[in-house]
Amino acid sequence: MDIKRHSLEDGPGIRTVVFFKGCPLRCVFCHSPETQDCGREIAFYPGRCIRCGQCAAACPRGAIELELAGRIHRERCLRCGACAEACPAGGLRLLGSSYEVEQLAEILLRDRAFFRHSGGGVTLSGGECTLFPEYLEALLKILRKEGVHVVLETSGYFDYSLFRRKLLPYLDLIYFDVKIGDPGLHRQYCGKSNARIYRNLKALLGEGAAGVHPRVPLVPGITATPENLAAIVDLLCRAGAGDITLLPYNPLGLGMATHLGRPKPPLPERFMTPGEERMIKEMVLKIIGDKSYGCQN
Ligand code: SF4
Ligand code: SF4
Repeated sequence: MDIKRHSLEDGPGIRTVVFFKGCPLRCVFCHSPETQDCGREIAFYPGRCIRCGQCAAACPRGAIELELAGRIHRERCLRCGACAEACPAGGLRLLGSSYEVEQLAEILLRDRAFFRHSGGGVTLSGGECTLFPEYLEALLKILRKEGVHVVLETSGYFDYSLFRRKLLPYLDLIYFDVKIGDPGLHRQYCGKSNARIYRNLKALLGEGAAGVHPRVPLVPGITATPENLAAIVDLLCRAGAGDITLLPYNPLGLGMATHLGRPKPPLPERFMTPGEERMIKEMVLKIIGDKSYGCQN
């Protein structure tokens, strides 16, 4: 989906982050819904459109109608990108690019000097990058050979034996998202039960995998409730986790849903205030109770 250079937020030091496109979950609160679908997609940005009609003229399927609110009859769209290529104003954008492994590695290694001087490296993110274990294994082998530090961010929904065999030996840190404690609510809000996610987390922690850090994305009314936070702390304690990171709510994905022709999720449109973040942190510390379970954020 994207390659973000010079990030200071996705692990230690200066990092280059690769956002893979494709995810087995469908979280309603996803802050990057453009990474959910494995295929290429067309995004429409009405604010940039000058209504010149060149997109409609370029479309081989007659899928574009200037008077249509979302502009594209998506059921007819081939995702060919001809409209985006024809658009002179950036009103349409084709999302998703493909790279051979060596090509991607070459791009990532351009930032080696930044990695070396800052203690940084590459972060593999998504979507869910573990959907592509063969590709990732080949990429990781190159990065390992070049001495690059690697962080992997995951929803935890992966095939454990493949993960353990192909990816784990090459990872320095794993940021493992834990969203909802109740299996029924997890299915309701994320599209699948959380059973496999917790099994995987427990297995990773159980075999002493280095650098596994559970993270909880805070979503008002869904994950950031006293009941859910208590359920998560309980699950993490039973899995043997040693820390927990709270990720403040990020509403930036809400707009992207409409650019992709999907309904806007009924979620708050603002970031959390520092006061709200503090209150949730205190709530989690209260739930944890004893000091043996550290809280980073
Ligand atoms: S991606 Fe291709 S088929 Fe889809 S609307 Fe654009 S030009 Fe038409
Ligand atoms: S080509 Fe671009 S600017 Fe012109 S009508 Fe289509 S989306 Fe709008």
